[in-house]
Amino acid sequence: MGRQSFMVSDFYCIKCGSKGMPLARKKGKQKEGGHMKKLYCLKCRCDVNHVEIKPFGEYDYEDFKRDFEEGKFLEIGLPTDTNILDL
Ligand SMILES: [Zn+2]
Repeated sequence: MGRQSFMVSDFYCIKCGSKGMPLARKKGKQKEGGHMKKLYCLKCRCDVNHVEIKPFGEYDYEDFKRDFEEGKFLEIGLPTDTNILDL
């Protein structure tokens, strides 16, 4: 068992595109970027799926912005539970 370190992931609302609350994630059991998590969006004022953006992930904010502008998230449906983006 090595020492545990954490890294912070950013989350972006797939409904309005605004940045949600960042969450600290345990390093090691990292899933791919583009992971979905249902969080409360202050702008939408409800629980909406957010896309996880990791600081060193393959899926970055530019990818999110592109997918958001292309309406990719609308195809997935809003707001749903534990959808995982198939990238
Ligand atoms: Zn929102």
